[in-house]
Amino acid sequence: MKMNERIHLICPVRACGSPLSLVFYGMRCPSGHTFDLARSGYVNLLQPQDSKSREPGDSREAVAARRRMIDRGFAKGLASVIAATLGAQAIGAGCAILDAGCGEGFHLADACAQLGTDGCGIDISTPAIEIAAKRHRKLVWIVANADRAIPLANGSIDAVLSITARTNRDEFARIVKPGGFALVAVAAPDDLAELRHLVLGESLERDRVARVVEGLAPRFALVSRERCVETLELDRASLDDLLAATYRGQRNSQREALEGVERMTVTSSRELLLLRRIES
Ligand SMILES: [Zn+2]
Repeated sequence: MKMNERIHLICPVRACGSPLSLVFYGMRCPSGHTFDLARSGYVNLLQPQDSKSREPGDSREAVAARRRMIDRGFAKGLASVIAATLGAQAIGAGCAILDAGCGEGFHLADACAQLGTDGCGIDISTPAIEIAAKRHRKLVWIVANADRAIPLANGSIDAVLSITARTNRDEFARIVKPGGFALVAVAAPDDLAELRHLVLGESLERDRVARVVEGLAPRFALVSRERCVETLELDRASLDDLLAATYRGQRNSQREALEGVERMTVTSSRELLLLRRIES
């Protein structure tokens, strides 16, 4: 991991929050709290009281399955819309973006490469951050629970991404600069409808947009929304990976529902919401 002058990490110890600086073995704050740098190039800032999550981190298997899907090009459509949306708001060189719940880091790395920004990715899953850190050494990768506390300095980030992850209104508002942005992707009601119909025998049509907008108000206000729809032609291996990456604790009944299915056309459908931080 390369330390970065635009990514201002702070000590995660409760009631500390002092700036962290890089020392030869890892990171240290002025009060003497220290954190090891993993060989693969990330720092674990997860505190014991924050290690319990309502949504436990992705397993190694789910992370690997999602990585294979990305390598087959299945995330490119959303990625190009993310870069275009941020670029249109003059997010570029000299800016810093955070991906809260970054998984294996594809969306952050792609956005930083396209826009020329600096970037930091946070996820509670160590296997996911390990893959991210090995693949994208120029960016800053942190194991932490972004649902609880984000170990970044106040007003230090130009845009925070939440790509099919949870949002944390007060922490997002604290770390984003005045006039900065939150960019949130949520599954649209028809996302993976064909697969859900086959596997779960139903298609859940839940509209998550209102919940996100309400959850971030009044600290953020909606600027724009865009539906990103892609048709994926999946072979058997991709179907298995999509199941493993999408449904936690893949059950045998789900595998059985797909028995004998060699190819399938699946709709990927996301809503991308751009929100601006409101001065309070
Ligand atoms: Zn400290």
